[in-house]
Amino acid sequence: QHKALIIGAGIAGIATAIRLAIKGYQVEVYEANSYPGGKLSQFTQSGYRFDAGPSLFTMPQYIDELFRLAGKEPSQYFRYQQLDEVCRYFYEDGTRLTAYADADRFASEVSEKTNEPSSSVDHYFKKSGIIYNITNHVFLERSLHLLKTYLRWDTFKSILRFGKIDPFRTMHKANESFFKDARMVQFFDRYATYNGSNPYSAPATLNVIPHLEQHFGAYFPEGGMYSITDSLVQLAEGLGVKFHYNSKVDEIVLDGRIAKGIKVNGEVINADAVLSNMDVWFTYHRLLNKYPQLKPQKILSQERSSSALIFYWGIKKQFMQLDLHNIFFSADYEAEFDAIWKDKSIYHDPTVYLNISSKYKTDDAPEGCENWFTMINVPANTGQDWGKFITEARKDILNKLSRLLGEDISKLIVCESILDPRSIESRTSSYQGSLYGTSSNSQFAAFLRHANQSSKIKGLYFCGGSVHPGGGIPLCLLSAKIVSEMLP
Ligand code: FAD
Repeated sequence: QHKALIIGAGIAGIATAIRLAIKGYQVEVYEANSYPGGKLSQFTQSGYRFDAGPSLFTMPQYIDELFRLAGKEPSQYFRYQQLDEVCRYFYEDGTRLTAYADADRFASEVSEKTNEPSSSVDHYFKKSGIIYNITNHVFLERSLHLLKTYLRWDTFKSILRFGKIDPFRTMHKANESFFKDARMVQFFDRYATYNGSNPYSAPATLNVIPHLEQHFGAYFPEGGMYSITDSLVQLAEGLGVKFHYNSKVDEIVLDGRIAKGIKVNGEVINADAVLSNMDVWFTYHRLLNKYPQLKPQKILSQERSSSALIFYWGIKKQFMQLDLHNIFFSADYEAEFDAIWKDKSIYHDPTVYLNISSKYKTDDAPEGCENWFTMINVPANTGQDWGKFITEARKDILNKLSRLLGEDISKLIVCESILDPRSIESRTSSYQGSLYGTSSNSQFAAFLRHANQSSKIKGLYFCGGSVHPGGGIPLCLLSAKIVSEMLP
């Protein structure tokens, strides 16, 4: 039996373990933390439960697929429900807009609340769907680094239709051409943040993201986001995968140009294949540091995605006007993105994302209370004075929420935890605390993401948000699929 070692029990590491076990491999996962999930973890404080990282769940079919591959009925192990209301939007001018899952209902909401006719929304989603149909097979579901991808007929057809994916102008420019009402431009610009990019520089190809949310839907896992990690670890263990926690891998052991195994807790463990689910930047800088000549310099020097600052607040009240996902927009989106991307700082009026899982999973907060996951986008960590940023941002966020909700929120906070780019970096070894690996701020980004297989070291493979096809749970799960198909 072939043996595979996986470094890291992030969501891609767990999914890869499942796929390789099904393929017949003996699989062992080594995880530095005492718990699985990496960014997709949870914690409790003063009777409140918080999902620590991701809060928006899309493309659940990729999770179901893992259970089905193992011969199990997914709904017996992992249940989720589709959201009718995807997100509630609060604008500084008083506009309140609900993004309904139903396309017609959303289009009428837009025509009622803004100056856009419902037809412009229909038109937009059609265009977004076309981009998906062209890019899906080429950019997401296959390796961009294997010749066989380019020899396929559907790849060839996609290349012929390349102009239709709108790569030569920015998301913002494209959105301005679809909508006259600035509120709708801002609404659709926000999708750039789904992979930590900047709508004022990311190519309009990323306008595919609204289609993913609109067409495939947004969901809530019954057990909260952490149940994704939990149910997949159980599935993996049932397939014989062995997880070693508190096991920080120190080195990938090479024999010439062949990966032979890993060094962990002073011991060398040999295997037929080594897979890193660790951020690719740290994989080279920490585990392969002895071999500077093997570092793919250009790829490792790509700009990182943005990071996040999160305040987890236990709130001793319930708010009827809020739902699971809520956005409080900045009055000046361009200035906000300029602060993040040009000044590497935080804008004084940031867009605030508020996630409240207790709206759906009531035992996540004590009775009459809510668990607030309050997040703003911030630059990746390049040594800024985070202490100062956090103090200022906390004040600005509380002012904004209190103003738009008509109540002094600071008086309602019972407990608080904070996650910032430094702690994201140290807890999950994500270079600069970026949430999604490299940014997508250029039309070449997809091609400059690290491949799922090393071209210089035989037997070394990669999965996770810092490599192809990119960050976010769905793409991490696709990286697991692509990489497991590469192994013999
Ligand atoms: P990671 O989660 O990065 O885990 C890597 C693992 O490797 C960690 O457990 C780490 O401890 C381990 N490791 C590192 N070095 C070593 C070593 N030397 N030895 C052993 N183990 C090691 N995505 C969405 O889809 N929707 C969202 O709403 C969303 N929101 C987000 C919000 C936040 C605050 C964050 C942080 C991320 C968010 N994301 C979201 C992105 C998503 O969480 C990530 O893309 C995804 O979870 C990354 O998974 P991964 O497999 O790359 O591994």
